[in-house]
Amino acid sequence: MDHTFCTSPHPGSECVAPLTGGTFRFACHPGVSCFTNCCADLSLILTPYDVLRLKTAMGIPSGQFLERHTGDDMRYNSGLPVVSLKMGDDPKQKCPFLSPAGCSVYADRPGACRLYPVGRAARYAGRTLQEEYFLVKESHCLGFGEAQEWTVQEWLADQGLEAYDAMNALWMGINRDVASGQSLSPVTGDKLKMYFMACYNLDQFQRFVFESRLLQMFRIDNDTLTRIRASQMELLRFAFAWVEFSVFGKKTMQVKPSVLKAQERAQGRR
Ligand code: SF4
Ligand code: SF4
Repeated sequence: MDHTFCTSPHPGSECVAPLTGGTFRFACHPGVSCFTNCCADLSLILTPYDVLRLKTAMGIPSGQFLERHTGDDMRYNSGLPVVSLKMGDDPKQKCPFLSPAGCSVYADRPGACRLYPVGRAARYAGRTLQEEYFLVKESHCLGFGEAQEWTVQEWLADQGLEAYDAMNALWMGINRDVASGQSLSPVTGDKLKMYFMACYNLDQFQRFVFESRLLQMFRIDNDTLTRIRASQMELLRFAFAWVEFSVFGKKTMQVKPSVLKAQERAQGRR
């Protein structure tokens, strides 16, 4: 069984009309009378890269972002934690980032907001990521009455989705065994906490990497060290590799030979 991930944040919306190779007409701007109406009452799942972009844009630590902006209802997807953006408690349940002028975090808005009205279904077949695109056509959205015409590729480029797609594909890659039911053991307890910290609470993960014995215990080349010190996007890539090792038992990290020898000596003394 393959894992399918559909990106539309609108409850009850359906992915219809495969778009591969086709075009669609759409534009969203302050001139459409429905402008910002759809930024409310959303079921908007945030990926690890969404959380990184948003908390960086807001200049707050990831822990504070998660506490302030994600629901208590941390949901589980195939046994793995998923966070969603908490809507406002006003009657319309508006997105907390909606301002009278539009999206206040536009440059760093979540991938699902960028992609709409395109829906993306992605699945891993073995190690190959297969993607299909659909049009999420909803009657309340007047953007479909605009003249501008797009191919999917033009839309993805225009909405700045390249980095989102790359990081989300990595994230889906580490989850694929659990999501497809091929993982032998469920992720629970400390492993679940580690998964959550590494994927979503990147500032806490950063302290874990640089303030624990991790760097003394594992072989991490200087180039990687330089990159993860300089860039939290690189740190997130490293976090995914760490999750594969520490949570899913993959050989993505190597213990230093000196540590292995010390462990062998200690076992010999027992
Ligand atoms: S993040 Fe921005 S684009 Fe997305 S729902 Fe909120 S206000 Fe709308
Ligand atoms: S309903 Fe459609 S056109 Fe209106 S603001 Fe939302 S995305 Fe834009």
